[in-house]
Amino acid sequence: MKARSHLKKLTPYQPGMGIDEVKKAYGVKTVVKLASNENPYGCSEEVVKALHRELSNLFLYPSANADPLRQKMASYYQISPECLLFGKGTDEIIHLLARAFLNQEVNTVMSDFTFPQYKKNAVIEGAEIREIPHVKGKHDIPRIIEAVDQKTSIVWICNPNNPSGEYVNEKELLQLLNEVDSDTLVVCDEAYFEYVDAIDFPDTVSLIDRYPNLVVTRTFSKAYGLAALRIGYCIAHPDVISLLQVVKDTFNTSHLAQVAALAALNDQHFVHECKRKNRQELEEYYTFCWRFGLSYYPSQTNFIFIELRRDCDKIAGYLLTKGYIVRSGSTWGSPTGLRITIGDSIQNDTLIAYLTQLLRTKDDISLLN
Ligand code: PMP
Repeated sequence: MKARSHLKKLTPYQPGMGIDEVKKAYGVKTVVKLASNENPYGCSEEVVKALHRELSNLFLYPSANADPLRQKMASYYQISPECLLFGKGTDEIIHLLARAFLNQEVNTVMSDFTFPQYKKNAVIEGAEIREIPHVKGKHDIPRIIEAVDQKTSIVWICNPNNPSGEYVNEKELLQLLNEVDSDTLVVCDEAYFEYVDAIDFPDTVSLIDRYPNLVVTRTFSKAYGLAALRIGYCIAHPDVISLLQVVKDTFNTSHLAQVAALAALNDQHFVHECKRKNRQELEEYYTFCWRFGLSYYPSQTNFIFIELRRDCDKIAGYLLTKGYIVRSGSTWGSPTGLRITIGDSIQNDTLIAYLTQLLRTKDDISLLN
């Protein structure tokens, strides 16, 4: 077989157990998924109504560039529609950026503790990968700047960062943008932007005019609650957008996803409420950590990474038997940490009760069974 040789370095994504599988395997009635940072409050009712209205239009191809949504979003952000491109989730946008800008002759810079898709796509394209050690869950901007050279095509900034929830502030981002050459893209992946409340978080959309090498990606999968429909977008200079348009599939986002995103964008009240409840619930986890002297990264997102100082593969396995799906830090080489999506109040209370029980039994999880 003449497949690209770099593919041998990768293995297919291993999905965790699905809800029905967990129910069957452990005989639990309810399964709570707190592993993929989905919105525990679902989505806006306006989305459901809009989808119902469109069900008779399934025989038509969607708008190739999501035009009605693009127009609406352009006026929402007060930018030109030419600065916007929609994708099958931001996953697809990351893929398109890698396809368009990475190859064997260039390098790409990222944190060593971040969203794994940047690295995966860079491996596929054969680019040299420069991973910069994080500092307490944060991107180390001075060292990232040092690692950039004339061959750097993309710098990935996950902001706020998955899995830590930490963020790069406006001053740090400007420092980076002012240091790198104008032909090095700085991609700010802002998948959790709607949850942020740090006042020094960068207003990246307003920086696009000044920095044509800045790309901002955001999604409808998190605060808007539309993960199942797969729709995300990026905001960038029209020259960058045109290149990505060449690479993308013609009909890359579905009609239903476009309709749902437009309705979701129109219901900002829903998003604000989710953000408010998320912040309140996050405090419950902070209190739990303080009570047990556990360290954690302060989060600007709808998840928290807690250092439990115990084998978190085992802990995640134990929680699964209780119907709670969470993510062990071993995904990021931190096997004693646990990343938990902030659920609703009942879900969080129950999970915290399980964790409390676990911490009281010291290390022997089997004592609980
Ligand atoms: N970026 C980050 C930082 C994420 O955490 C995720 C989802 N886990 C994505 C991008 C991809 O999101 P989606 O494809 O659903 O838009």
